[in-house]
Amino acid sequence: MAKETAAQRVERLKVEKSGLNVLKDIHHYATTGEEVHGEDIDRFKWYGLYTQNKNMQKDEDETLYFMLRIRIVQGSINLEQLRMLSAISKEFATTRQSVQLHFIQVRDLPEIFDRLKSVGLSTVYAAGDVPRNIVTCPVAGIDEHDLYDVRELVAEVNAYFDGNKDLENLPRKYKVGISGCAKHCMGHEIQDLSFSATKLEDGRVLFDVCVGGGLASNKQFSMHIGFAEASQILDVVKIVSALYRDHGIRDNRRKARLGHLITKWGLEKFKEEVETGLGYTLQDATRNDFTPYAKREHFGVHTSKMDGISYIGCAVNGGSIKAQGLEELANILEKHNATTIKTTTTQNFVILDAPSTSTDALVKDLEAINIDANPNPFKARTLSCTGMQFCKFGISETKNAAISLASHLHQKFPDFDETVSISLNGCPNSCAHPSIVDIGLSGTKFKDENGETIVGFDLFLGGTLEGDQSRYAQNMKVKIKPEDVNTKVEKIITSYIESSKNEIGLFLKDLEEDDTFTIDNLKQ
Ligand code: SF4
Repeated sequence: MAKETAAQRVERLKVEKSGLNVLKDIHHYATTGEEVHGEDIDRFKWYGLYTQNKNMQKDEDETLYFMLRIRIVQGSINLEQLRMLSAISKEFATTRQSVQLHFIQVRDLPEIFDRLKSVGLSTVYAAGDVPRNIVTCPVAGIDEHDLYDVRELVAEVNAYFDGNKDLENLPRKYKVGISGCAKHCMGHEIQDLSFSATKLEDGRVLFDVCVGGGLASNKQFSMHIGFAEASQILDVVKIVSALYRDHGIRDNRRKARLGHLITKWGLEKFKEEVETGLGYTLQDATRNDFTPYAKREHFGVHTSKMDGISYIGCAVNGGSIKAQGLEELANILEKHNATTIKTTTTQNFVILDAPSTSTDALVKDLEAINIDANPNPFKARTLSCTGMQFCKFGISETKNAAISLASHLHQKFPDFDETVSISLNGCPNSCAHPSIVDIGLSGTKFKDENGETIVGFDLFLGGTLEGDQSRYAQNMKVKIKPEDVNTKVEKIITSYIESSKNEIGLFLKDLEEDDTFTIDNLKQ
């Protein structure tokens, strides 16, 4: 009999037992101590659980550890939730945390789930072949430049997705974004389905509907299929989700995202199917330009639409806060009568409701715990994935490397004041999106000058998101050792400064046109 393929295995697992139904098994394993069945480990994803990188365990430690991802609806975390995350991190996890908790044991899961529930947090559908958390703008409804307050729309679609049994078995993960942000920070180009508010000349706001975006195995920018009214968004979500569930490719995991179905059908047919399901056509309108990726941010203190209230966009070093940091952050917020933070799509966060009278003092207190409201350009836009420290796929270390790189660049170029996006990734899965940033590093193994296999990074240059002008970074075929990352990236920035270009994106895009810099410079 032919060996079961990876795709056949996953499809069988989902049919034999729904990922949603694995909760009772989690309780069973937790209370009996029975060894977790390999097939249930895969189903645990429906509750946000992935196995941890075993390389980080001592040889004699055979414990099965998990990373637990918590779904943060609309990215919003209140003080009580922040304190709970800090407490859970300290008690049950053994290392640093963000909204992903690491080194969790099965025996502790029922208690952790209960505690999360007590503060309104959940891990259901945080992973698995299901609709993922909806991406939106952190300052929706409070930013003065907001094109549309999408909070209710996001809540409506979230309520539709939340544990929806009709969507428990999609071909693969499914990412939806809804945003009214004037800076387009949701990143519609890489969502499976997205709605971006657009102001028309007559003052009306419609939502630009795009489909089929993705990275890694579904590497294509999303495609526009028309405009929808706010009141039509849920209809479109329901139809596209059902089309994906019923027609998405299931015999090859690498071709299972929505974008592949659109490639198979063609955009015209896909649009026709959507409109047939809707019973009406999407509207035509002039599309607006989109903000370049490196400028889609909300750092600093800004006046909010709420009287006497400001919001403060903050950068976190390397996108990671330890349990102690979460507690300190909660204490600072409480001290200054702020109650809520919202996470951003770039591993940072916004304090939503700081009294305008105390923003200076609040910013100062944040600086003391290394959280920066006015980050230098390198700290602001240097992202890193989980990396080999915590991720089982990780080849290279990323978190410390990102902190070291941002600080090195700031030291070398203290007056540099342009936006530059950098991303460090532990493996080619590219979770921190190296292919859409100016300078991307992706974990790999290669042979050094002595023929020894070592870990390091592949270098990608010149990516950006900017609507139809989006472009992927190119693999420069340059291998970089971890210890050389800082100096190699420094070389790139120096070459840009010495070039005739006035934007790093343009410099990197047209590298071959520049006669002062060749990629061979980096190989030395
Ligand atoms: Fe893990 Fe690789 Fe994703 Fe980084 S890029 S989080 S190492 S899978």
